[in-house]
Amino acid sequence: MSDETVIIGGGPAGAAAAIGLSRRGIPVRLLERKRGPHHKVCGEFISYEAAQYLEELGLDIVALGAEPIRHARFYNGEHELAFNLPFTAWSLSRCRLDSALLEHADAAGAAVELGTTVRHLSRAGDGWKLRSSNQSVLGRAGTVLSAKSVFLATGKHELRHWKRNVQASRHHGFIGLKMHFSPSAMQQDIWRNTVEIHLFNGGYAGLEPIEEGGVNLSFLITQDIYKACGGNWAKILDWLGSTSSHMNQRLASLSPCWCEPLAVSGIPYGYIRSPDDSVPGLFPLGDQTAVIPSFAGDGIAIALHTASLATHVYSTGGDSVTYQRLAFKDLRQPVRDAERLADVLSYRLGRKVAFVCVRLWPALLRETIRRTRVGLSAR
Ligand SMILES: Cc1cc2nc3c(=O)[nH]c(=O)nc-3n(C[C@H](O)[C@H](O)[C@H](O)COP(=O)(O)OP(=O)(O)OC[C@H]3O[C@@H](n4cnc5c(N)ncnc54)[C@H](O)[C@@H]3O)c2cc1C
Repeated sequence: MSDETVIIGGGPAGAAAAIGLSRRGIPVRLLERKRGPHHKVCGEFISYEAAQYLEELGLDIVALGAEPIRHARFYNGEHELAFNLPFTAWSLSRCRLDSALLEHADAAGAAVELGTTVRHLSRAGDGWKLRSSNQSVLGRAGTVLSAKSVFLATGKHELRHWKRNVQASRHHGFIGLKMHFSPSAMQQDIWRNTVEIHLFNGGYAGLEPIEEGGVNLSFLITQDIYKACGGNWAKILDWLGSTSSHMNQRLASLSPCWCEPLAVSGIPYGYIRSPDDSVPGLFPLGDQTAVIPSFAGDGIAIALHTASLATHVYSTGGDSVTYQRLAFKDLRQPVRDAERLADVLSYRLGRKVAFVCVRLWPALLRETIRRTRVGLSAR
């Protein structure tokens, strides 16, 4: 058996684990299927907690062009609820963030292999055997690797034979879409330091400023809405604009930066890996451990939190069962509470009552925000 520690996936979870392990003197190899910087379906919202982890990892997100986010505006049809966030959050494209994290992993000493897709993972004695294919300029080549331990950080992508048990997730019938836009100079002020969440029956949409004056639109809609629009981007945008005059006005003069939107489906919101599903020597991170409803904007924080937790447990001789128990303890409450909130906000009446309650009892808002955050690891 090889002594090697292998990380599969180079998103925030995998890259943060590579940095953490390398800094603790543990040799690590990270395999990422994409060959270079790429965009991902995401609101680009970096929560306060995520920003703290990024700082600990040595990332200067301000230097990368992150925009501070201090205010939020929620819409339910024509009704608006505006408030100041109880912390400063940030906004930065995933393309920049994920690339910077991988560069840091490389600089910390991790062997980062881009363009390498792990196709098969199986047990080999006390360790693991991985089969990967490599897309180099010379073509495709297959490699077999042995590892003592594996950190599974493939995000929403399932590895054959190691799929998450997502049966219990009630919210996986959504399609997620994302597009970057260039707003006009006048429009830019609308989103200065502000994230907007537009709630409607069948999903929600988030708009926020990103680096270099751009705006990110990411939204979730049910498969029924997607099908009714024939999967056609222009029709989907028309449908989105019809949800409120605010959204219609937003979309009216935004110029898209790409020809096609990015899309994902089948996201198992509310999924949380049970400690009973722990496998010796396998450390699932990020979305492979828990998937918080995305409007909470804490998926990146979960990715970084689990990476921090797993590297701490692993480097101090702990096993994956211990890690999984601790991760479950830390993540169960924010994921469950965000899921309950998503349930309430999915109904027009629920949204109306929530808006009224928050206006009457502003402390309720702070408490709701607090309960849907992933606590910072003290480790
Ligand atoms: C619509 C939507 C909006 C969201 N908005 C936000 C937000 O605003 N803020 C926030 O904090 N979170 C948000 N999230 C959640 C956030 O995007 C995820 O929680 C986060 O990306 C998880 O990080 P990760 O490292 O676990 O996975 P990922 O970021 O998905 O990274 C996984 C990596 O593994 C690689 N990979 C996959 N399979 C293989 C393989 N077999 N071999 C090698 N490499 C592989 C992939 O290429 C990828 O780079 C949103 C999610 C959705 C769907």
